[in-house]
Amino acid sequence: MTFTTRFAPSPTGPLHLGHAYSALLAYDMALASDGTFHLRIEDIDQTRSRPEWEEQIYDDLAWLGLSWEAPVMRQSERLPAYREALARLWQRGLLYPCNCSRRDIAQAVSAPQEGGAPPFGPDGLIYPNTCRHVPDTSKPLPEGVLRLNMEAALAGLADDLSFEEVGPNAGVVALPHMMLLSDVGDVVLARHGMGASYHLSVVLDDAAQNITDVVRGQDLFTATYIHVVLQRLLGLPTPHYHHHRLIRDAAGKRLAKRDDARAIATYRAEGRTAADIRRLVGL
Ligand code: GLU
Repeated sequence: MTFTTRFAPSPTGPLHLGHAYSALLAYDMALASDGTFHLRIEDIDQTRSRPEWEEQIYDDLAWLGLSWEAPVMRQSERLPAYREALARLWQRGLLYPCNCSRRDIAQAVSAPQEGGAPPFGPDGLIYPNTCRHVPDTSKPLPEGVLRLNMEAALAGLADDLSFEEVGPNAGVVALPHMMLLSDVGDVVLARHGMGASYHLSVVLDDAAQNITDVVRGQDLFTATYIHVVLQRLLGLPTPHYHHHRLIRDAAGKRLAKRDDARAIATYRAEGRTAADIRRLVGL
């Protein structure tokens, strides 16, 4: 199978050095193995995505010397595919609607009788299953927030889930059911006004683009646990994962979208070159 990878930014702010590293690394790997490099615009969150940021992404990546396959996949155009997958999971009784606010969840997990620090998973606090119930699947797929019933989901899967990490810490990462229940839990797969959550859309998009190797930051390592479960539930292949180091600022803090000082556009305006950016990120 041809090595196929992607860079999947969200157009919610300027690309910074961390994005440049991720994109260049994936692009170089594709080039080195005579493979394919896709750009995917992850604009599922329409409240935060802006066309001007999308334009800036194309502009910055071209300036960095990257080229990608046409057409560019945009999540905002894939909502029917996401709904179809949700409907399949719904019919199998694996989803349930949830009305809890972040505050409700925080309150539920910090109840005094629980003791200890509230457990965090790939998506924030591990959901205390407040709304979990057996849904009436004769009803159509509801709108709004839907959670995956992790227990019901895993009950139908063999306890042999894993993925192959090919990054700096290469090896097979085993995902035992017990760990998925305690450290991941009932994650959100559909959000208000968004159709699908990031986790569901990224899994469906990687499969639709035949991605063989996902190259992305170490910050998404535990999100991969969710992605592997979804791949198994939906009968999709699990790509190899390369979770790379994160680019940090001088104080050792991970770069965020709001760190405009590290924006590629700022370096460009200062007259730096694409080669300078490669040097700055250690490539
Ligand atoms: N859209 C995500 C981000 O900008 C990246 C998702 C991924 O690479 O899987 O952080």
